[in-house]
Amino acid sequence: MVEPRVYEALRQPIVSHVDPFFFTVFEDIRLLLGPVFGTENPFRTVISGTGTAGMETAVVNFTAPGMKFAVFAAGYFADRISNIAERQGAQVVRLEKPWGETFTEEEAHEFVKRHKPHIVAFVQAETSTGVYTPGKAISAAAREVDALVIGDCVTSLGGMPVNADENGIDVAYSCTQKGLSCPPGLAPITVSPRAMERLRERKTAVPSFYFDLKLIDDYYTGAHRYHHTAPISMFYALREALRIVIEEGLANRFERHRRNHLAFVAGVEALGLQMHVRDPQNRLWTLNTPCVPEGISDVNLRRRLIESHGIEVLGGFGPLSGKVLRVGLMGASSTRENVLLLLEALEQALRAEGFPVKAGGREAAERFYAECAAAR
Ligand SMILES: *Cc1c(COP(=O)(O)O)cnc(C)c1O
Repeated sequence: MVEPRVYEALRQPIVSHVDPFFFTVFEDIRLLLGPVFGTENPFRTVISGTGTAGMETAVVNFTAPGMKFAVFAAGYFADRISNIAERQGAQVVRLEKPWGETFTEEEAHEFVKRHKPHIVAFVQAETSTGVYTPGKAISAAAREVDALVIGDCVTSLGGMPVNADENGIDVAYSCTQKGLSCPPGLAPITVSPRAMERLRERKTAVPSFYFDLKLIDDYYTGAHRYHHTAPISMFYALREALRIVIEEGLANRFERHRRNHLAFVAGVEALGLQMHVRDPQNRLWTLNTPCVPEGISDVNLRRRLIESHGIEVLGGFGPLSGKVLRVGLMGASSTRENVLLLLEALEQALRAEGFPVKAGGREAAERFYAECAAAR
């Protein structure tokens, strides 16, 4: 869901892409991005494009042919990073695990020490599996071999702690349409001073003109030299979305996401479903992956949800096809009302598909909310 205030922001008058007013909007965004990313990096900017544009920017600016590029791969978006790095001629090495599993500190150290890569990439919030990997252990291993760390924070930003500095992420990127509750169209990105140094030392031209961070920075904060025509309305929208995040307060916002996630989990477990990500510590609050019970069709379940209730949840894909549901509870959509409505609808759909529901899902979530209220 997009916040009503963000829709309002979208209708503000368009100015030119080199209007001094536009650059004040950019500067507001740059300032607001600091706390949301959890970083003191002065370099914070916005790529015109969706989350994948952020990913491509992170890879092309810091990769050159022949460089060793290590990926922690246990999901679809880690595969996409690998694919982009391969297209840059990098020598991609991967530590692979089944989708939904996590990497231990020892595994991270062993893998990085063995390969001594130039770059290490991981996905903090893997939307294909529901796994959260803060990244601290990975970046500690990367620093021992002086590798830069790229972290995909597309589904964490605005819904869960990114903590780019604390987690040692040198290049963190995201999108506007997930935890920030904006339309799709921009990719916020931040780069550490250490990584900026690498960029300055780079001998060869960045192979992409559009995603060249130096050119982009010169446009937004330097000489304001024309680079491309920024999508002005989306900047109004993103600024408003970030203001909403700061007004709510990061701690309050994370707590809201955590509480609604836990209520949802309590509900699906009461119904008799299991979560695909076994350890509760490793679960995303923004993207929930309950398992589809044996013998039940996820396609039928999802059709019932959308046709009878107008609720859209996604299915698993790749190795998780037919095995999980992917339920987004992020930004403005992470509400108690949504959780309760969904659990009620899911219960009806499961019963209609012949699944022996154990107990009331909505009631279990309501009990959880009542316990939270009593504890406060
Ligand atoms: C959505 C997503 C992307 C890609 O973002 P788009 O906006 O679809 O281009 C990248 N990484 C992760 C983890 C995502 O969830």
